[in-house]
Parts: sequence; structure tokens; C-alpha cells
Amino acid sequence: MGLFSRFFKNEDKEDLGSPPPEVLPLRNDLCWCDSGLKYKKCHLEQDQDYLEKQRQKALAARKACSPVFG
Ligand SMILES: [Zn+2]
Repeated sequence: MGLFSRFFKNEDKEDLGSPPPEVLPLRNDLCWCDSGLKYKKCHLEQDQDYLEKQRQKALAARKACSPVFG
């Protein structure tokens, strides 16, 4: 049952780590997480992944809400 409950948990809390701040640093600026690393070396990819997943989710939600054509 582990997998199953994990799947359900992921529905509202995905395994993506911290959400990115509203204002993202530039690639060569220090990351927002205070790691001391440049953003591009730290959370850049994670943030893009996160935002992409959010967008996919929003798209999926919109699809689910809209009437089916055809
Ligand atoms: Zn970081």
C-alpha cells in the first residue's frame, strides 16, 4: 500500500522541495536558498522543473473543467 498512499500524497504535495520565491534571482546571482551557490548551480533547474509542473497541473485542471468538444 506504500506506493498507493504515496501517490495520493503527491496529489497536493509534490516531491519537489521548496517552492521557488515569486521573484527569481538571475542565473549568476546567489541562489535564494542561502546555499552560497550561484542560482544556475543550485535551484535554477529545480525551479524550472517546479514551474513547469505547476503549469502542467494548471493545464490539466483547466482541461478537466472545460466541456469536452467533439
Ligand atoms: Zn538554491
